[in-house]
Amino acid sequence: MKRQKFIAGNWKMNGGLQANAELLSAIGEGLRAQAPACRVAVAVPMPYLAQVRQLLAGGAIELGAQDVSRHEKGAFTGETSAAMLAEFGVRHCLVGHSERRQYHGEADAVVAAKAQRLLVHGITPIVCVGETLGEREAGQTDAVVARQLGAVLALLGSDAARIAVAYEPVWAIGTGRTATPEQAQQVHAALRAQLAGAQPGAANVPLLYGGSMNAANAADLLAQPDIDGGLIGGAALKAPDFLKIIGSTHDL
Ligand code: PEP
Repeated sequence: MKRQKFIAGNWKMNGGLQANAELLSAIGEGLRAQAPACRVAVAVPMPYLAQVRQLLAGGAIELGAQDVSRHEKGAFTGETSAAMLAEFGVRHCLVGHSERRQYHGEADAVVAAKAQRLLVHGITPIVCVGETLGEREAGQTDAVVARQLGAVLALLGSDAARIAVAYEPVWAIGTGRTATPEQAQQVHAALRAQLAGAQPGAANVPLLYGGSMNAANAADLLAQPDIDGGLIGGAALKAPDFLKIIGSTHDL
């Protein structure tokens, strides 16, 4: 089955009112010129959801967020609920990004609970999984990503068909070091098999690759049979690079 490619930008903790407007204006202009062959989203910092929603209105780019509370509502100072994200038109939300796992102690069960909360509110969780360099060198890559994804699948049951997954090797994020297309494909194929085994309906969930994807390496990664798109950090902040990545889906 041919799955539509999906390119999502993760702005992380970057941006500003003026910078966001300029970036999205440049991307919007580029997209009008090339008519994207893929779905496109940007995951922006919480304070900019309202601004970016307005800037994206009527266009093809979908709004995303980078994190969500695992709780529905209540005394959780500083957190943002899935219901709030939905009110701002958020369509996608990252969960379990390695920076959240690493710096905020997010365990697999928390990631799974966040994914569940999002689905209740009609938002697609983009579940991030990936091994550290030490884990790869110890031959644990498959076991680590299977454990991370498995926790989400176990909690969601048949709703697993409604998620997206991003394979992001931790050693490739923001480092300029990219998994080879073969390395990435191998993990994606294993994730696809795990999804299909857990829930037949989940066999075709979008599987994105993330980790120093850029204008130069995107086409080779995206040409792999089980790589359905990209989660882009640094290169999503530069309109020409992001547009080139989007453009590389045209020939696939
Ligand atoms: C990310 O943060 O999800 C990411 C893939 O970052 P980068 O593209 O900068 O490696």
